[in-house]
Amino acid sequence: MTQETRGVTVWLTGLSGAGKSTIALALAEVIKAKGRQHLELLDGDIVRQNLTKGLGFSKEDRDENIRRIGFVAHLLTRNGVIVIVSVISPYRDLRREVSDRIGDFIEVYVNAPLEVCEQRDVKGLYKKARSGEIKQFTGVSDPYDSPLNPTVECRTDQETIDESVAKIITKMTELGYL
Ligand code: ADP
Repeated sequence: MTQETRGVTVWLTGLSGAGKSTIALALAEVIKAKGRQHLELLDGDIVRQNLTKGLGFSKEDRDENIRRIGFVAHLLTRNGVIVIVSVISPYRDLRREVSDRIGDFIEVYVNAPLEVCEQRDVKGLYKKARSGEIKQFTGVSDPYDSPLNPTVECRTDQETIDESVAKIITKMTELGYL
């Protein structure tokens, strides 16, 4: 494949409210503006309403959620699509598994401290997690394994959305995907 048609999965992992969906949308706009039309977004909240509907938040169900997303991302990636995945994906072993399978894979750690995410509380979920209304909530009552060696780290409490997107674009260019 020529460089212009090389597929890749850009996998955004991080706590709820860290900025994954926001960065995914902004990143997609920049990539489209560069003329790459074969692009797909897989957002955790949307995926859980269809592809992985019915799955819960136990380790087993979270793993199954990630495996199915990884499967679709792989199919698209190998056909030259740029796939932007935004899912909490809290477990390091599963991120490694999908990364190994897909190969053309960029791990982006969308990182803001828990306190910041909780203060943003975009969807009011932290409040519900603290009150016990939601169980197994990542960062509050369920684990999050921080990436040890992400391809890119975006500190969304310290940088703007545009700065985060620019970092990812730079890395994609360096690695020959753009
Ligand atoms: P997630 O998808 O990780 O759950 P969202 O993207 O839904 O997170 O929400 C992140 C919130 O943080 C949004 O309201 C966004 O506007 C805000 N925000 C503030 N600064 C940044 C930044 N630098 N990058 C991304 N989001 C940011």
